[in-house]
Amino acid sequence: MEYRKLGATGLSVSTIALGCAYFEKAEREHFLSVMDYAVEKGVNFLDLYCADPVTRDNYGAALKGRREKFVIQGHVGSAWVDEQYLRTRDLTLAKPSFEDLLTRLGTDYLDVGMIHYCDSEADWKEITEGGFLDWCLELKKEGRIRHIGLSSHNPDIAIKAVETGHIEVLMFSVNPCYDMQPGDEDLEKLWAADSYAGELHNQNADRKRLYELCESRGVGIDVMKAYGGGDLLSEELSPFGKAFTPVQCLHYCLTRPAVSAIMCGVKDIAQLDEALAWLTATEEQRDYSGVLSGLDRFTFSGHCLYCGHCAPCPVGIDVASVTKYLNLCLAQGTVPTTERSHYELLAHHGGECIGCGACESRCPFGVSIMENMKKAAEVFGK
Ligand code: SF4
Ligand code: SF4
Repeated sequence: MEYRKLGATGLSVSTIALGCAYFEKAEREHFLSVMDYAVEKGVNFLDLYCADPVTRDNYGAALKGRREKFVIQGHVGSAWVDEQYLRTRDLTLAKPSFEDLLTRLGTDYLDVGMIHYCDSEADWKEITEGGFLDWCLELKKEGRIRHIGLSSHNPDIAIKAVETGHIEVLMFSVNPCYDMQPGDEDLEKLWAADSYAGELHNQNADRKRLYELCESRGVGIDVMKAYGGGDLLSEELSPFGKAFTPVQCLHYCLTRPAVSAIMCGVKDIAQLDEALAWLTATEEQRDYSGVLSGLDRFTFSGHCLYCGHCAPCPVGIDVASVTKYLNLCLAQGTVPTTERSHYELLAHHGGECIGCGACESRCPFGVSIMENMKKAAEVFGK
C-alpha cells in the first residue's frame, strides 16, 4: 500500500481507501469479508456517510478490536429519520445522529468529522451562521472529532470553506470530466449529457484553483466519484467517447495537487482488486493521456495534466512533478517552504534540462516543457 499525509492533519492514509456507497445495508458476512481483505491489503482509511443503523452496526462489527488501525472519516449532518437518510443542519437531529454513529462504531472519536455534502450558498450560510460549524468546532475542542472536513461537489463552495481556515480535509468529486465543468449548485449538471454537448477546453479554472489552494493551505483532499459514477469506464457513457480503465481514473485523481486518497466505492473484493491494481500498475498502465488526447470537442492544450506521458527524460527529470511544483508557486505568487522542500527532494531539477526536446515531442497536450524547466530553475534556483 502507498500511504500519504492527509494534508496537515498528521494522519497517514492509504491512497486506496474505502467509500461506503455500495455497503449500504450489506449482508454482514459479505461486508466483513471485504473489510478483512481491505485490511490485509493495507487499507486504513474509511468514509462513512450512511446514517442507517444496519450499515453503522456493520462498520462497528468490522472495527471491533482494531479501531486504532483505521482513520475514520464519519459524516456529521447525516441523520436517519422515518427509516430514511436525511441531510440536516438541524442540531436536534444532527447531535443524536452523531452520538448514534459513535455508539454503533464502538468508538469515542472520529478522526475526521466530515460536514456532510454542502453544494449551495444557502446551505453554507446555514452551516456557518446557524450554529452547525460552531458545534463541529466544539466537538473538535472536546476531542470527539479530531479534524473537521467538508464534502462537496461545488468548487465555489469548497473554496469558500477552505478559506475559512476551519476545514482541514475536503472530500471532493474529482475526475477528468467533472474537472472541465464550472461550479454549480445543481449536482445533476455534473453528469448531464447537455453539460458535455458543446466544446470544452481545459480544466475549469476554479477547480484547478481549488486543488492548488488546498495544497497551499495543507488541506488534504480525498476523492469521491473517481470513475464518474462508472460512466468513465464505458466507451458509450463516457462524455469523451473513450473508456478509461479504473487504474487510469485513479491515477488522474492521485496526480492532482493535494489529493491524498480515493474513496473507492466497491461492492466486492473483485472491485476492490480493480482499485488496488493501481499500486502495482506500470507507468504505461497508469498513463491516462491517451484517453484525453485527440478528442474532437474536448481539448486539453498547453496545460500540464501531470500525466507523465513525456517521460523518460535522458537526465532523469520528473517533468510532471517539476511542473506541478512550479504551477503551485506561480498560482500563489510565492515559493512556499513546502513546495521548495518537495522540489528539492526531487532527484533532478529543471536547471539540469539539456533542451533535447524529447519530452515535448511526446507531450500530447503541447506543453512548453523546456520553457517550464527554465522557469522552474529560476523560481527554485536550481
Ligand atoms: S508535460 Fe505533457 S506529457 Fe508531460 S506530464 Fe505534463 S501534460 Fe503530461
Ligand atoms: S528537454 Fe529537458 S526535460 Fe525534456 S527530455 Fe530533454 S532534458 Fe529532459
